[in-house]
Amino acid sequence: MPGYGLAVAQGQYALQEAAELLRKAGVGVSYAIHPVAGRMPGHMNVLLAEANVPYDMLKDLDEINDEFQNTDVVLVVGANDVINPAAREKGNPLSGMPILDVDKARSIIIIKRSLSPGFAGVDNELFYDSKTMMIFGDAKEMLVKISSALKEEI
Ligand code: NDP
Repeated sequence: MPGYGLAVAQGQYALQEAAELLRKAGVGVSYAIHPVAGRMPGHMNVLLAEANVPYDMLKDLDEINDEFQNTDVVLVVGANDVINPAAREKGNPLSGMPILDVDKARSIIIIKRSLSPGFAGVDNELFYDSKTMMIFGDAKEMLVKISSALKEEI
């Protein structure tokens, strides 16, 4: 699940490498695309197209939200507002915005540099969920490490 931080880090190539390693090992992989992820319309589509991510691996919010409940692991890379469950509550700047329901998956891994909020300035309780693992660091650097680890394991 890519967000603005993936674009900042220019981690799209490392992400695609990790996804391909998983795919070759028989893991089903999809990219969950939120319509306002990033800072311009279509930002994630453009970013992932640069890394030659096959178009059929991209799933938009309406297509993928029902799949999270049957998903083992969601890897969130540099995203925040578009996965923030606070959007389901009233009285904050994100209220009413549809989000990617990554909190319905069995496990969530989030790569970002800190616990700081995203564009809208709203804290994200998902970072503290018992099924969430935070990986603190630059998205590209962390994805390169994940790919290296996958190459050793697979
Ligand atoms: P957010 O801005 O909510 O979150 C991005 C996160 O990326 C930050 O919390 C930051 O956390 C992390 N980050 C930044 N740099 C790096 C890095 N180098 N490595 C790893 N992580 C990094 O982005 P989302 O994509 O989730 O949501 C987009 C937001 O932008 C929405 O609120 C949307 O409404 C708004 N927006 C979208 C537009 C569009 O057209 N797409 C236009 C204008 C606004 P940390 O600092 O901890 O690393």
